[in-house]
Amino acid sequence: MALIVHKYGGTSMGSVERIQNVAKRVAGWHAAGHQMVVVPSAMSGETNRLLALAKEIQADPDPRELDAIAATGEQVSVGLLAMALQAIGVDAVSYAGWQVPVRTDDAFTKARIESIDDQRVRADLAAGKVVIITGFQGVYTAPDGRAHITTLGRGGSDTSAVAIAAALQAEECLIYTDVDGVYTTDPRIVPEARRLEKITFEEMLEMASLGSKVLQIRSVEFAGKYRVKTRVLSSLTPPDTPVAEQAASGTLITFEEDETMEQAVISGIAFNRDEAKVTITNVPDRPGIAYQILGPVADANIDVDMIVQNAGVKGTTDFSFTVHRNEYQRALQVLNDVVRPAVGGGEVKGDPKIAKVSAVGIGMRSHVGVASLMFRTLSEEGINIQMISTSEIKISVIIEDKYMELAVRELHRAFGLDQDGQLPAVN
Ligand code: ADP
Ligand code: ASP
Ligand code: MG
Repeated sequence: MALIVHKYGGTSMGSVERIQNVAKRVAGWHAAGHQMVVVPSAMSGETNRLLALAKEIQADPDPRELDAIAATGEQVSVGLLAMALQAIGVDAVSYAGWQVPVRTDDAFTKARIESIDDQRVRADLAAGKVVIITGFQGVYTAPDGRAHITTLGRGGSDTSAVAIAAALQAEECLIYTDVDGVYTTDPRIVPEARRLEKITFEEMLEMASLGSKVLQIRSVEFAGKYRVKTRVLSSLTPPDTPVAEQAASGTLITFEEDETMEQAVISGIAFNRDEAKVTITNVPDRPGIAYQILGPVADANIDVDMIVQNAGVKGTTDFSFTVHRNEYQRALQVLNDVVRPAVGGGEVKGDPKIAKVSAVGIGMRSHVGVASLMFRTLSEEGINIQMISTSEIKISVIIEDKYMELAVRELHRAFGLDQDGQLPAVN
């Protein structure tokens, strides 16, 4: 008998029938003798609906109130799932984040989990109950003792589930979703994408941070920090699929490279359209200029991702960087209002129509030629690379967003990912 955490995403909870299927699946695991904690998301579309309602009232809503609204989607889910379990004779109890409590900091709309109290949950588990806890939400207690509902950012139920699994020292955290595992790229874009049996924690971290929304990045960070055994698998198989069969399916996140792992050089292609590029032209090419530009940007709490400074011509240079698209207007404002008056410079320009495409794989450490194959593939398609950044296990490029899907498909093919992931003619 083991303590197991299941997480179910929005599609998996998307209708009464699907919730009943989740209940049947959980009942199967419970009947197999496991102590079960279940973390569901809001029903599909619900969080979007709630946020859109808020924005109809106020264009830029108060984050505290936005969280109060957004958190209700998960509250409905836990209650419905508890009822669905009770209806088939399984003793179950639901909790909102504040009842556990799942304590967070005060960063409304993107709060971080600080601690989770396991007492109440453990008592219920000991009494044989299935415990259902809201994903996505927690509680911040201010120094004055007053409590405020918080949410963990979009996709945050993954993080709730892994953090709860860590707090309870669960045997395994199973992330049930609408795909049957982590693929070499999003199978909605590339039908030839292949499911990975295993992926290393480092690769999963890169994939998530570079845009693969199958897991929220913070859930991967938690899995790494607390060594939570985490598996991504399908919620769309028949709910009475034998527990052992489910336990061996999907994609396991591993913490060590072992010989049985597929020895692909590249494990996957990630992409996102979440960024925008800003440029200030003709700034003086002198020591300290990067600091003078990016200092005010950091002071405005805007995160910068990629940076390019062109070679100086006649003592001046163009300086470009990318920011999250939500912070695009503010970044332009800082460049116009603060940076240009202070350092001089020509025009402030912006381009939100960009996409970032990345190749990720620990095999890059021991193979040369990955970057050249990537650049050659893009050039053969006539796709211009605007920015490049690399780390030990990834290469990212910024391109025009209309070429994103083409680039993903062609890179997927060029890196052999629809076959065995071996590089064709490099080295
Ligand atoms: P949930 O509602 O279960 O949390 P999400 O929509 O957040 O599900 O995540 C699952 C989706 O992630 C899939 O439907 C798929 O389109 C997308 N996805 C993106 N990249 C990948 C990938 N590399 N492997 C699998 N799925 C991916
Ligand atoms: N319901 C939340 C969202 O849509 C959290 C989640 O699904 O993980 O972002
Ligand atoms: Mg998700």
